[in-house]
Amino acid sequence: MNKLGMGMMRLPLLDENDFTSIDYEQVNQMVDAYMDAGFNHFDTAYVYHEGIGEQAFKKCVVERYPRDSFKIATKLPLFVITEESQLEPLFEEQLKNCGVEYFDYYMLHNVSGFTETAWKNVDLYSFIQKKKEDGFIKHIGLSTHGDAEFLEEILFDHPELEFVLLQINYLDWEDEGIESRKCWEVARKYNKHVMIMEPYKGGFLADVPEEAEKIMKEYNPEKSVVSWAMRFVANLDDVCVVLTGASNLEQLENNIFEFNNADPLNDDELKMLEEVSEIINSNITVDCTKCRYCVDTCPEEIDIAKIFDLYNKEKIVNKDGNPWSQLGNAYLNYSKLPDVGLASDCSECESCIEECPQQINIPEVLKDVAKTFETEGYGFTD
Ligand code: SF4
Ligand code: SF4
Repeated sequence: MNKLGMGMMRLPLLDENDFTSIDYEQVNQMVDAYMDAGFNHFDTAYVYHEGIGEQAFKKCVVERYPRDSFKIATKLPLFVITEESQLEPLFEEQLKNCGVEYFDYYMLHNVSGFTETAWKNVDLYSFIQKKKEDGFIKHIGLSTHGDAEFLEEILFDHPELEFVLLQINYLDWEDEGIESRKCWEVARKYNKHVMIMEPYKGGFLADVPEEAEKIMKEYNPEKSVVSWAMRFVANLDDVCVVLTGASNLEQLENNIFEFNNADPLNDDELKMLEEVSEIINSNITVDCTKCRYCVDTCPEEIDIAKIFDLYNKEKIVNKDGNPWSQLGNAYLNYSKLPDVGLASDCSECESCIEECPQQINIPEVLKDVAKTFETEGYGFTD
């Protein structure tokens, strides 16, 4: 059986509009529940929670548990690297942020088209290999949202890599953009361990359309909606860790329960999930996983992740026949926050597009968001 990892990308917040307002008390409870359940793999990154994610890990794990009781994985932020001289100070800063003397797993964060400046111009691979030889890293790898062909090129060129972190879930398994299955097959071909991210696809697979839920419940009324997503990833071969990014204690406890009860899917169940995937795909308006990579690049300060979430929910809620005005109000409330841009403020500079691992044409979608929400019917006036 694979291991369950605690992803620290979407920790609970005291103020939902401030990603640095981490609810440390609740995170401590989550860490305790996770460790008590017999797991010990934490995953963070330099960029999580607007740069304080690694410090949150230090506060809630390192300062409360002995070093040999947990494993830590973090990531080199390729997005900010343009020259070699940045590597050493960044790495030192990360050790300090995390409060550790070595990392168990260290990866190049999202090797893909939009981090090209870093991995083409700077010898990142030699850097992490040297850190491993010097004892500051136990295992080196990378995370990527690139396709299978891209991954194969890297793994062919870099046999020193030991693991890869891939986006895998039943919805993306055969997706032509994400290519979960093909990427997993490439990793296996090169004998790499696989860590899985986004097993619930940013929450989509925890909150599926009613029609899809009905099929799942008819098949087995005892099983929760998320159990299917967890069973899909928990039993894949050559996977060492399944990361789930719980946003509160209840979600984390559910993840632990589902993971511990994740028996393998049979052929009939896999077929049923194909049907469910078709329904979900026809309901998802924007494929946004709320990773927030795009948000920092926006000169208009549009919280793209947040308003895409509202927009997706708006579309699904309408299908279920619930009052549309609830989410319209949520958008109106968002518009009143200080220092945030509206969908209509998008200047189409396109700097966000290359940041998006899901390949969403963000400015195009924002036009629809503006047309949907920024109308008189939703409380907007010129
Ligand atoms: S295209 Fe629009 S949303 Fe994207 S970064 Fe530019 S202004 Fe922001
Ligand atoms: S639009 Fe893309 S980059 Fe931005 S939060 Fe969503 S998935 Fe992430």
